[in-house]
Amino acid sequence: MASKRDYYEILGVSKNASEDELKKAYRKLALKYHPDRNAGNKGAEDKFKEANEAYSILSDAQKRSQYDQFGHAGAQGGGFGQGGGFSDVFGDIFEEFFGGQGTQGGSRAQRGNDLRYNLSISFEEALLGKEEKIKLRRPEQCDACNGTGAKGGATKRCTTCNGAGQVRFQQGFFTVSRTCSACRGAGVIIADPCKKCKGQRYIEREKTISAKIPPGVDTGTRLRVSGEGEIGANGGPPGDLYVVISVGDHPQFARDGDHILYEAPISFVKAALGATIEVPTIKGNTPLKIPAGTQDGKIFRLKGLGFPSLRGYGIGDEVVKIRVTIPSKLSSEQREALEKYAKLSGEEVHTESGTILEKVKHFFD
Ligand SMILES: [Zn+2]
Ligand SMILES: [Zn+2]
Repeated sequence: MASKRDYYEILGVSKNASEDELKKAYRKLALKYHPDRNAGNKGAEDKFKEANEAYSILSDAQKRSQYDQFGHAGAQGGGFGQGGGFSDVFGDIFEEFFGGQGTQGGSRAQRGNDLRYNLSISFEEALLGKEEKIKLRRPEQCDACNGTGAKGGATKRCTTCNGAGQVRFQQGFFTVSRTCSACRGAGVIIADPCKKCKGQRYIEREKTISAKIPPGVDTGTRLRVSGEGEIGANGGPPGDLYVVISVGDHPQFARDGDHILYEAPISFVKAALGATIEVPTIKGNTPLKIPAGTQDGKIFRLKGLGFPSLRGYGIGDEVVKIRVTIPSKLSSEQREALEKYAKLSGEEVHTESGTILEKVKHFFD
């Protein structure tokens, strides 16, 4: 302990330095001798510890006065374990140093990112399901170096951390573990980088993944393919792949959840008299009986001719909506028949296309 340097001398300030001067001096030293900037430099590490200790004492008014009176002995007897203003300023400095990321190491196992793949399928494919081959580009472990980043897989144990990936050092009163900056936490050093991945350990590659699209998917359905996302870091698990579905339109059908919607045009005569019409369904045409007097907009349900439920709760229906159509052209015979019908039902009809004679006739009716 006799060789211990004076705290003021360590920080390079005078005995009556202000709090601000102390802080500035300490900050300068901490940044200069920080282990991250001086990997493997024992001298710098010692200077860093020294500056930490000096500042932790002098930044505390009570401890500073004890030190002023009794020197190192006083400081040691003063119960310095309580911290004081030390951690505050330290957090400050570290934030500056690490861009706000704090002191977290980079060697923690981290799950890989999830990937999203947009898949467009047809109406029929959504109905029946399909096996889709999905091609994606994503980083994979380099096969030339087995993910070591070193040529032929040859690596050397990192001498800074002795292969641990972490360095332990004294920070004020605490022993702190940090990611080794020499090997970035890998514990090994690459002497000769792999040519294929340029020492990056990963290589972007196209991969084909087989994804099972179940029947009943709809636009916006997200299907998770477990473990097919990006690879994890430092031995962490891979992320997942999300296949996001977009279903194309159908020329005849629309969709409402698990139900298929179809609009069936029928003539006003059929609507009035009743008829059996042919309706297209996903399983081919099927006859549908329309009772006499069916109104426009009337709905008929064909049970079980919709989409299967994705969650397995049964099957939707085909919902048939009747659209009564009016002929846009009439032959003279058809018109006569309708006029006769109008007369029978006591309706007054003014026909635009009628002859003048007819109009006159109607006038005197
Ligand atoms: Zn290391
Ligand atoms: Zn490689």
